[in-house]
Amino acid sequence: MKSIEEVRKEFGKRLVILGHHYQDSDVLKYCDFAGDSLALSKIAGECTEAEKIVFCGVKFMAESADTLTSDEQVVYMPDISAGCPMALMATAETFRAAMASIRSMVGDVVIPLVYVNSTVGVKAVCGENGGATCTSGNARKMLQWVFDQGKKVLFLPDQHLGTNICYDMGILDSEMKLYDPALENGGLTAEDLKVAKLIAWKGFCCVHNNFTVADVERARKEHPNAKIIVHPETPKEVTRLCDAYGSTAEIIKMVETFEDGSDVVIGTESNLVNRLAEQYKGKVNIFNLAPSYCKGMRVTTEENLQILLNYWPDENIIKVDSSEKENARKALEQMFFV
Ligand code: SF4
Repeated sequence: MKSIEEVRKEFGKRLVILGHHYQDSDVLKYCDFAGDSLALSKIAGECTEAEKIVFCGVKFMAESADTLTSDEQVVYMPDISAGCPMALMATAETFRAAMASIRSMVGDVVIPLVYVNSTVGVKAVCGENGGATCTSGNARKMLQWVFDQGKKVLFLPDQHLGTNICYDMGILDSEMKLYDPALENGGLTAEDLKVAKLIAWKGFCCVHNNFTVADVERARKEHPNAKIIVHPETPKEVTRLCDAYGSTAEIIKMVETFEDGSDVVIGTESNLVNRLAEQYKGKVNIFNLAPSYCKGMRVTTEENLQILLNYWPDENIIKVDSSEKENARKALEQMFFV
């Protein structure tokens, strides 16, 4: 079997390997680009010379890449079972039912915003309903886009991202309502919907939902001079005790600004925190708020990447259904347009 480097050399620009920041360094070292979901979705759309795009991340990311690339380009994953549990907390059916239920109670007053960490089916329903996607980095801008139209937002699938950002935008907790897809009408009444500015879907990220108030209290004791930063997928009661929050890209930028000798505690996926700690060793002291790894990201390994690059099995292709592609692309492109 050829080595990964041999295959990369042989293909040249006809092959692009994309890797999410949460991947293990053993995989990331082979990637042409490392980034968060927004950066990688954009790169996938811009790599027009690439015949094969290999996505080392989780399935919704590869689906976005296929949605944004031409029909001639083929998107692969080293193991297609690499999934995001949060993305599966909203389905196209439950989302459609939510839109219908909200409309029947309060009329056409809601625009959906779908976090890119969602299935392509959910993005397609979003596009059908005049909504847009967003990332943790541009969620504020996208929420403002909805509010500027005088509408309420149905934000899915992560409750915490929407809630944290709306709080910072001055929206009161009483104006944020949680929609539970397991309950009739999401567990909400017409009265709830009338006062709501944010209707947040009851989904969460298994990595960031793990961080607790006790973790912050412990970190404050262990590192009294440290700044504590978390990702906005962290629950609000934790986020509000921290010094700052930010998307993956924003966390990386914040770390660059710390003075030599500073202590920083970061609450996000531990592969990324460990890599930053290594990178800034001797300059900035970086600690995990608590160890928290994304199981979906761990499915991709150096071994299954090498096997893929040697055999290109059809079962590793991620092909979005054309019926979903058009509407999902609408929702994604709306985000790039705002
Ligand atoms: S870190 Fe969270 S949101 Fe990201 S892929 Fe893993 S489970 Fe999904």
